[in-house]
Amino acid sequence: MSILIVDDTPVNLVLLEDILKQEGYGDIHCVGSAREAFAFLERGGPLGPDVDLILMDVVMPGMDGIEACRQIKAQERLKDIPVVMITVRDDTEALQQSFAAGANDYIIKPVKETELLSRTRSVMRLKREIDCRKAREAELLRMTEQLEIINKTLENLINIDSLTEVANRRYFDRLLENEWQRAIRRADSLALLMIDLDDFKAYNETYGHQKGDQCLRQVASALNEVIKRAGDLVVRYGGEEFAVVLPNTDSEGAMVVAERLRSEIDTLKIPHEHASSGDTLTVSIGIAAGVPKEGDDRRQIVTAAESALYIAKSEGRNCIRVAKDSCA
Ligand code: GH3
Ligand code: MG
Ligand code: MG
Repeated sequence: MSILIVDDTPVNLVLLEDILKQEGYGDIHCVGSAREAFAFLERGGPLGPDVDLILMDVVMPGMDGIEACRQIKAQERLKDIPVVMITVRDDTEALQQSFAAGANDYIIKPVKETELLSRTRSVMRLKREIDCRKAREAELLRMTEQLEIINKTLENLINIDSLTEVANRRYFDRLLENEWQRAIRRADSLALLMIDLDDFKAYNETYGHQKGDQCLRQVASALNEVIKRAGDLVVRYGGEEFAVVLPNTDSEGAMVVAERLRSEIDTLKIPHEHASSGDTLTVSIGIAAGVPKEGDDRRQIVTAAESALYIAKSEGRNCIRVAKDSCA
């Protein structure tokens, strides 16, 4: 345990140091002024100096002990170091000022050995408790931060498709419900795209399941590249089917986005020798869009987009079709 004694009278310093040393306190620093005390306290970096107690004379030339105490208590890195004032008897005004400045205790001059030692012990106990509390708080903060990271990871795990790393169906269901309700409240248009890989069964059969997985990842990241607007979302809806949610978008806007997505997949030029419409992998897209009304069911827009996708498939694949009445 480390003690700093601040007193402008050298004989007082020697007296206090001797008593404390005899009691077994080894780490004692003596300084002759508040200025020297602050120079000493400067050490120890932002976490504060390694001092467990300051014994502070009240009357000193230059900055007095009360002002020094006030300045110590005003500094975040020093404020938890207990300060015990050393004052002459009956100076009640100095005592009041000391406590107002944040002093923890006081000792009357001339200093009696028993008084000094008992006050030192009790203040040191207080300091130990403060240190323990700070350590517990730091540990709690560390654990809270770790928990936040774990929660975020868990949240990701339950909402993200592990193969393609885009949002999964579970997240889609929640998001679509929220966007559906928001569109109702604001009388906004909401668009949904259903995107299905063409002839993907044949792709797997030709190139193998692992290549198929790789292809799904490539398609997902290409879709994500195109979908950049905040609030828009790419989802792996199921096997080789993706969905894109476009809030605040009508069918014309959705058509523009869908065409960008379709041509982006086209330009990937993923070889597919058994594709029904060429020799590279393509996608078909169904669009549903509209302004939902109170009481409408969000499943309407999903069904409508799937029907449009079905038509795109039956009309040759690698194309886009728009549902007529998505939210009627
Ligand atoms: P269409 O053009 O009409 O969509 O024909 P398709 O062959 O793509 O459709 P179908 O529904 O007959 O087959 C879908 C195939 O997608 C079946 C399955 O092998 C493949 N598939 C679904 N999920 C996965 C997956 O996670 N990984 C891989 N490699 N293949 C998948
Ligand atoms: Mg398919
Ligand atoms: Mg399919």
